[in-house]
Amino acid sequence: MRAQLKLVVAVLASMLVLGGVATAAEDRTLGLGDRGADVTEVQIRIAGWAADGPQRTFVAVDGIFGPATEAALKRFQRAYGLTASGQVDAPTQQALDALADPDGSTAHFDFAEFHSKDGAGFGGGKVGSSTVQENVRRLMYKLEAVRKKAGDAPITINSGFRSIAHNSNVGGASNSQHMYGIAADIVISGTSVGQAIGHAQTSGFSGIIRYDTFTHVDSRVEYGYGAGSWYWAT
Ligand SMILES: [Zn+2]
Repeated sequence: MRAQLKLVVAVLASMLVLGGVATAAEDRTLGLGDRGADVTEVQIRIAGWAADGPQRTFVAVDGIFGPATEAALKRFQRAYGLTASGQVDAPTQQALDALADPDGSTAHFDFAEFHSKDGAGFGGGKVGSSTVQENVRRLMYKLEAVRKKAGDAPITINSGFRSIAHNSNVGGASNSQHMYGIAADIVISGTSVGQAIGHAQTSGFSGIIRYDTFTHVDSRVEYGYGAGSWYWAT
């Protein structure tokens, strides 16, 4: 019995390392100083709680539970009506689990919403389709935070991932972050572009661009292949 349990935990842990698993490991209470794949998954899920006010900062997804992770977790806990312990206790783990759908997407977004609009799905980009899908998954968690900050207002994805071909068809930038699955053009229901930008500026987005009717957000500094430096054109 015990050996079987250990096997299940080991299989779950290996799935976590591979990415795309819907539930984080629940066999310990995570807090400051902890390390591992389960910490990585927590960081992905709270990445949208990077700051209290507009700040060029993000939660590093590095598997090391440091002060920035703790602070982001406390913001998440407050937003979801939990005790701001800064630890992944049972109620917090429940809230983190509730954000995930069985297919690896999040509660309020589907992968299809982020597919390239030329029918390429997550293919034909500047990185492989499984990398695109994982990048989109991480993007979804940041957008879950934006959605929460906007009073649970639904978010429409005007454009998520773009294949290289689709990006050039729509006149996208030659190194558009959309071709990696790390960018989205969003409209928040009942929310002005200015308010959307305000939410994005506390949610770990390193690229934010104002348009008349939508907001572009991306995580360009977090990926080796991203544009590299902060760019807020707000
Ligand atoms: Zn865009």
